[in-house]
Amino acid sequence: MPIVKDLSSYKNVWVFAEQRQGKIMPVSIELLGEGRKLATETGSELCAILLGYNTEDMAKELIAYGADKVYVADNALLENFTTDAYTKVISDAIYEVKPEIVLMGATHIGRDLAPRVAARVDTGLTADCTQLEIDPEDKKILQTRPAFGGNIMATIVCQGHRPQMSTVRPGVMSKAEMDESRKGEVIALDIKLAKEDVRTEVVEIVKEAKELVSLTDADVIVAGGKGLGKAEGFELLKQLADKMGGVVGASRATVDEGWIDHSHQVGQTGTTVKPTIYIACGISGAIQHIAGMQSSDIIIAINKNASAPIFDVADYGIVGDLYEVVPKLMEALDKG
Ligand code: FAD
Repeated sequence: MPIVKDLSSYKNVWVFAEQRQGKIMPVSIELLGEGRKLATETGSELCAILLGYNTEDMAKELIAYGADKVYVADNALLENFTTDAYTKVISDAIYEVKPEIVLMGATHIGRDLAPRVAARVDTGLTADCTQLEIDPEDKKILQTRPAFGGNIMATIVCQGHRPQMSTVRPGVMSKAEMDESRKGEVIALDIKLAKEDVRTEVVEIVKEAKELVSLTDADVIVAGGKGLGKAEGFELLKQLADKMGGVVGASRATVDEGWIDHSHQVGQTGTTVKPTIYIACGISGAIQHIAGMQSSDIIIAINKNASAPIFDVADYGIVGDLYEVVPKLMEALDKG
């Protein structure tokens, strides 16, 4: 039987505060930045929902980043993410408190959690959003995401159900500013969770042995494309990235060739990035690549082909062979 809801009883903007081993993930700070904008435009409060164990410091941090209220579920069973426990606690909280908008990061955790929560509370979900806006007419949230393989941007509205739920790609929204003098309220949720409700147990957390690249946090990304011609080309880009205190990114074509690991891939099926400087070397600028890097502050493109589409989004373009241009850039950096 469909659940009958009084939509007018749903209020405020919620951000799911994703934490791992007691550390709030950067995407949650970005969602607080975006959530503040939505809360201001709808005249509502910005709230965070935090699940974990010994959460006091994290709750303070969320307030410093702009949360007016933090709903906290503090329990040993919630120390690490498990699908069962987090789905139950968040769904129960939504039923009880009735938020109007719920935002989660489109991370591995958010992608697992959000559709389950949406199904439990009988609402829709727009996954993988890259833009959120409030419709000035009816105050509904306009959720924009790439569709049809990234060839169009679709704007989706949640009709007749609440809350309006979105997952948002990490690295797309601007982070909230921290202000430790901010005041906010911490509200303990009444958790109805028994050990039997949780079918999985985290026994041990093992860090990946391979070198991890953190594209989302990087200030400078030097990215390589098929124009490199060979896997060894990335060594040259690594030298430039090291000189600039940055990391190496890649197009999907190079990942598909096996020249570099997928963790370096930028774009629709890779990571969405927003560094201060993005240098695209030998990348043509396919829509699926641009979708992941167009919000960078300064884009520099190096390409042999003057009509490559990457130049349409570049702030600075260099038409030339990257194997000549990149060493010259490094020389110039060395000279200071
Ligand atoms: P190419 O398109 O082959 O471009 C190589 C460029 O290098 C050319 O512009 C050429 O002029 C230039 N060049 C050649 N030699 C030199 C030289 N010596 N010096 C300077 N320039 C040179 N792609 C992504 O990147 N990320 C994604 O997440 C992604 N997701 C996708 C999802 C879907 C559903 C689909 C269908 C595709 C996706 N793609 C993605 C693939 C995308 O469509 C392109 O195929 C890919 O981005 C092309 O990579 P590229 O620019 O390195 O290669």
